[in-house]
This record gives sequence, C-alpha cells and structure tokens, in this order.
Amino acid sequence: MNLCYFDHNATTPLTSEASVAWLEATEQSWLNPSSPYRNAAAVRVRYEAARESLAAQLEIAPGRLVFTSGATEANNDVFRNWARQLSANTLVGVNPTEHPSVIEAAEVFLGRRVEWLKIKNDGRVDVELLGERVRSGQMAAVSVMAANNETGVLQPWQEIADICAEANIPYHCDASQWVGKMPLNGLSQCSYVTACAHKFGGPKGVGFIILPNEAGDFSILLGGTQEQSHRAGTEDVAGVLAMLAALELSKTQESSARDDFIKRIVVEIPGSIIVGHEAPRLWNTVSLILPRHRSMRWIRALEKLGFLISVGSACSTGKASVSATLLAMGIDPVAAGRALRISSGVNTKAEDWQALLRAMVVANSLLDSEASAEKSSVISLD
Ligand code: PLP
Repeated sequence: MNLCYFDHNATTPLTSEASVAWLEATEQSWLNPSSPYRNAAAVRVRYEAARESLAAQLEIAPGRLVFTSGATEANNDVFRNWARQLSANTLVGVNPTEHPSVIEAAEVFLGRRVEWLKIKNDGRVDVELLGERVRSGQMAAVSVMAANNETGVLQPWQEIADICAEANIPYHCDASQWVGKMPLNGLSQCSYVTACAHKFGGPKGVGFIILPNEAGDFSILLGGTQEQSHRAGTEDVAGVLAMLAALELSKTQESSARDDFIKRIVVEIPGSIIVGHEAPRLWNTVSLILPRHRSMRWIRALEKLGFLISVGSACSTGKASVSATLLAMGIDPVAAGRALRISSGVNTKAEDWQALLRAMVVANSLLDSEASAEKSSVISLD
C-alpha cells in the first residue's frame, strides 16, 4: 500500500538533492579534513565553504557556527554550559512547552535554578511577564523555542531576543522546527540557536548550533580542536554538505490546504478542537483533539487506511504519558489523551489533505462501531 506521510515534524525523507550531495561527498571528500596532506586540505576547504555559506544565510560570522550531531546534542550542551558559566544564585527562564531535549537538560543541569515561564492558553509565552522577570534582574538566561514540534505554535522569539539583548543576558532559541520551514532572518539576534537537518529533508544525525560572539569556553565534546575547539571529533563533511543541499530547497509554504482541512474536520467530526488555533502556527502542523477514542486507536486505524500520523512528540512515542506540552497549555489530561499531531511536508498536496479528511471520517465511524461492539460484549459478559 502507498502510505501517505503526515509526520514531517518527526522527520522528513532525505531529498534527492541531499542524497546526491551526500553520496558525492562520501565518495570524493572522505578524507579526514584534519589530515596533514594537501588532498585533505581540499576537503577542509569544502567543509569551511559550507560553514561560510550557511553562516551567510543565517547572517552571522562563520565563527559563530558549530556543526553538531543534531538538536538534542546542541540543546543539552546549552544547559550543561550554562550550569557551569552562570552564577549559582540566578534563575534561568525556560518555556514549559519545549522539546524534551530542552526540558530534561534544564531539569538535570540546572535543577532548582529553572524558572518555568508562564504561557498563555494559546501556547505562547507571556512576553509581558517574561519582560518583567528579565528586567527584575534575577534571570541570567532564557530558553524559548521558535516553533513548537507538537502544536506548530510560533513563539514571539524575535521579541524575546530583543528583551534579552536589552538586559544583556543570553537567549537560547531551539529553532529545529523553524529552520527549513520559515525565513532565517532574525535568528542571528539570538545568542544561541539550535537546529537539525532531518526536519527539512537533510540527513539524520546532523545539525548546528549558533553560539554568541563571545562564546568563550563553550564546550560540546572534548578531545580535539575541531569546530574552533568547541566540539571535538572528526567532521561529518558529507552530512553537512547534504544538510546545505536540503536547506537550499526548503521553503515557506502556503497553508491553504491545511487550513481547509481544519475548517472541514471540525464540521465532519463535531467536537474536534484545534490546539493553539488562536496563535500563529507553522504552515504544516495541526494539533487536533478528537471528541472520542484515544490517540493510539486513531493512529492504528489511520495507518490501516494508509496514513501515517503522530501523537505528541515523536520522542515520546511508546511512552504511555500524555503530552507535557498540551498539559502546560492547560488542556485536560483526558482530552490530551485524544490528541493527534498531523504535519505535512513540502511535497504534500491539497489532494493528500482531502484524502486524510475522508480517511478520518471513515476511521471515526470504524472506531465508534468498535467501541459500541466492545461495550455490548462487556454488557453481555455482565
Ligand atoms: N527540538 C525540537 C523542537 C524537535 O522537534 C526535535 C526533534 O524532534 C529536537 C529538538 C531533537 O532533534 P534531533 O532529532 O536532531 O536530536
């Protein structure tokens, strides 16, 4: 069966351009760029050219850009370094709807120094309150993502960057769901930005972090002088070149097909709720709470009908826990247990959204019949 993929916020297929770039670099530029001969220097030149090209797109000096194994690593390292660099009696403001790689790193590395920021019911951080807290002088750093992986809600990160810059404190923005979907300009104003290639058609296990101009002793891995001594380890030249090839093709898209889906699903399945509908959101994401049946039942029913969709964050799949993001938005845990995450990609067509809508209507009746069959078998057993 041809499966229709609606889980691009979990990962995207490698674009053919990225695949060609990866294969070419793997075959032609496989030498260790740190080796002492001229052929290796040529690989170093390609690698540094890639850094310059990405830095130019991000409007930053190449020295601020460090390639990493992805966003989880980079997010962990922001908090590990802050724990060491920031003075012990200060607080760090963290958005409670962050990806687990921020939440858990903040909890483990900073513990009681974390101040969970207040968010509004639409999922956005309350910027006025944040401004007050920052100006009170007690906050030493802030971490708020650009776009949420579950709901697609866009945070007012440009405003937060200004607030933090005025107070002269570092601001970390996890832009993993933003880069490749939205314009890059403005990210240079954040002290730290983290992102990964596999959310926009690049390979898995490659990403980057933007560091502040004076990153000092910011350290990711020890044991070598690669990445201006911030991250030791032999460079993934092919991965980085493939990431750049994918980024070149990525673009902001129209959300009209997604918006039509939203308009119709709430009519076709009455009682459906769109999470964060009052907030600006990514063009590709729908977080939907259905009136009946738990998320996993929906996912299985839709997979049988040929559609791959998700529940909450991909990293928490398999855990029976309810989405922490939805709970932080004040959504009732029972309702949050009926939430689905639907996320399209650059090649998703309007017809795919329409087909998904039809499949959801079918799945709804199938699940209703299953539920009433289960109910009557329980009654007959009684
Ligand atoms: N941050 C956000 C917002 C994400 O959506 C993800 C991936 O799901 C990550 C971080 C982790 O990225 P990676 O898979 O590169 O470790």
